[in-house]
Amino acid sequence: MAVDAPLSATLDYAWAGETLPHGTWVSVPLGRRTVLGLVVSEPIPGSPEIAYAPGDSGLDPSKIRPIVGPVSGLPPVDSAWIALTAFAARYYRRSFGTVSVGLLPKWLRDLKNYQAKSGSGAKSDATSGATNFERLWKSIEADAAKLPTPLASVLDDAPALNADQVQALAAIADPGVYVLHGVTGSGKTRVYTEAARAALAKDDSSQVLIMVPEIGLTPQLVARFRQALPGISIAVLHSEVSERERAKLWLSAATGKARLVIGTRLAIMTPMPGLRLIMIDEEHDHSYKQQEGLRYSARDLAVWRTQQLGATLVLGSATPSIETWAQIDRGRYQRLTLPRRATGEPAAPIRLIDTLKDPATEGLSSESRAAISAVLAQGGQVLVFLNRRGYAPVLGCGSCGWSSLCPDCGVATVLHKLSSQKNAAATASKNAATNAATKPSAWRLQCHHCGLLNGVPRQCPECGDPDLQPLGRGVQRLEQTLSQAFPQARILRIDRDSVRQAKALAQALESVERGEVDIVVGTQMLAKGHDFARMRLVVVADADTQLLNPDFRAPERLFATLMQVAGRAGRHESAGDPAQVLIQTRYPQHRLYRYLLSQDVAGFARMEMDDRQAAGLPPFSYMAAVRAAHRDEAKTRQMLHSLRDQLQQTAAEHSWAVTVYGPLARYPEVQAGKWRGQILLESSSRQALHQLLSSAEDWMADHRELDCHVEVDPSEV
Ligand code: ADP
Ligand code: ZN
Ligand code: ZN
Repeated sequence: MAVDAPLSATLDYAWAGETLPHGTWVSVPLGRRTVLGLVVSEPIPGSPEIAYAPGDSGLDPSKIRPIVGPVSGLPPVDSAWIALTAFAARYYRRSFGTVSVGLLPKWLRDLKNYQAKSGSGAKSDATSGATNFERLWKSIEADAAKLPTPLASVLDDAPALNADQVQALAAIADPGVYVLHGVTGSGKTRVYTEAARAALAKDDSSQVLIMVPEIGLTPQLVARFRQALPGISIAVLHSEVSERERAKLWLSAATGKARLVIGTRLAIMTPMPGLRLIMIDEEHDHSYKQQEGLRYSARDLAVWRTQQLGATLVLGSATPSIETWAQIDRGRYQRLTLPRRATGEPAAPIRLIDTLKDPATEGLSSESRAAISAVLAQGGQVLVFLNRRGYAPVLGCGSCGWSSLCPDCGVATVLHKLSSQKNAAATASKNAATNAATKPSAWRLQCHHCGLLNGVPRQCPECGDPDLQPLGRGVQRLEQTLSQAFPQARILRIDRDSVRQAKALAQALESVERGEVDIVVGTQMLAKGHDFARMRLVVVADADTQLLNPDFRAPERLFATLMQVAGRAGRHESAGDPAQVLIQTRYPQHRLYRYLLSQDVAGFARMEMDDRQAAGLPPFSYMAAVRAAHRDEAKTRQMLHSLRDQLQQTAAEHSWAVTVYGPLARYPEVQAGKWRGQILLESSSRQALHQLLSSAEDWMADHRELDCHVEVDPSEV
């Protein structure tokens, strides 16, 4: 039996009733509670460590506690799903029970939902009231009955597929891993819907999984699947659905009722017994990596799941990850290209503005201002991108050098202007400047690492100077610049602060699409997968901070973001000047820009791969991190130091070729009052790396005061 607890093994329970098949859900006593358990009555392929040895527990049979009974209604899970959770647990180093049982929707783990409401107190009276589960199940069946019947001949007004799309679809018909490499607007989504249609047509039980970085960013994608596949039950899974809804979607997928699942990274763990095809849009996006609990990569698990099932995986991107390029090089993934925009419009050219020559006064150079004016005069839309939330990254005192810092994290707190706007789309029609003038805005200092929110001091806490200055520029301040420079323009800001919910984001994006906005200014949220028909100009206000980030994956991320933002311009033909992309930078000579200007994605990837190979970095080696946090920095450093020495010694004793280094500080070094450090392990052998991680975990068990965790294939170092 697997239960949701950090136990290294499964547990034995007694049962005298009929045989309970592998994958059955039961309720069992655990300590003083009764909890959900998963019957594991067969060996799990690929996971020999999960011992299956009935009657071999070595316990006195009279001490083995009995199972309470099967959970009524909850359908058993298939053995392929059990094997997936076992693999994820082993590879990402969590207990099998916390992954298999613990990742079940909370609502389904709550045993109360399977108990009849005993109105009269007569518990055994089945007619006294349906259980919550029975009611949920009824609503699943009612939803299925509401589906439109598939049209006999789909009314297809979509344009014919182009030759590249036809070729890609023909390749995808065979099992394997494919990389669909195409610029924004090249028609990848069309390939996804057609590939899904073909897979679903194979037989009545086949299922398809689509993963996207964030559902809120892709309302169009979901709409396009609904339109392309009438009569197909689609489950849309994301972080904002209610617990009960999540349970419903999970059950629909697990019983094969939902044929298509669209979801964020968590969707990879959905049981889908008929799964034939997985497609991952924007596969390079780092939201596919979970940063807490089971720290998994949804993309890597998708590869495993595909191979396990002999299924097909499509990794779509305009800028495939370096990991993916390396697999293409090794011949493990097949690259399919959509080299042109499907609408025929050429990619908008990218140009750099050297801000040492044409300074970005109040955030915008004179060339950017002139280009914005020209597009506005022709009735086009403009996107201004700055990946920095808030008004200014720090508040400072010019007299004594004081700057606002978070007392817990030691990093600068960001100055935010609080606006009373409830709905970004609703206020878009009004000019931001008039808003600011009529409403006294409140100011706050916020720590972006721990969330701490403070008021703004009236005067410098150090020297008393009342003239505190915002230093640097965030997207709110840029919005102000734009509203002053273009007082007639309708300006909409889109970022985490103005748009919190997926629904609000969808509304904001629609208002842009309807032409109710002239200038959109925003962060990363704007970069991804949204098709703006009338966007003629993209201005990247500042990307220099990312250019200087020392993380070895930073260039890859910046390149992908800039390609994506650039792809927002000129996706459809229109009157007026050709679309263009302007990037303001102090480092126009940087080698990243050489590839960006020529939009040479493969060339950039080649350069990054060569660098990483020379340095022995992933994907040319495997990496893992042991991370620790503690109030006392010196003590943490010292303990990590001794861990490093011990691991180096263990590796040497067993001749495991693993390099261990550190302790290294993480960024930010202090969070919620704790210093954060890590030891990195690197090896060309996955097996050796995992063996050494086992010793690290033994050490962690003896040093619980250190708040440690292991991360395999860390996405940030
Ligand atoms: P991507 O997902 O790569 O960004 P989409 O599939 O959204 O690309 O296609 C971009 C645009 O091109 C859409 O407006 C779409 O309707 C259109 N399009 C897609 N395929 C074709 C085609 N074969 N012929 C003409 N237009 C197409
Ligand atoms: Zn001061
Ligand atoms: Zn903080």
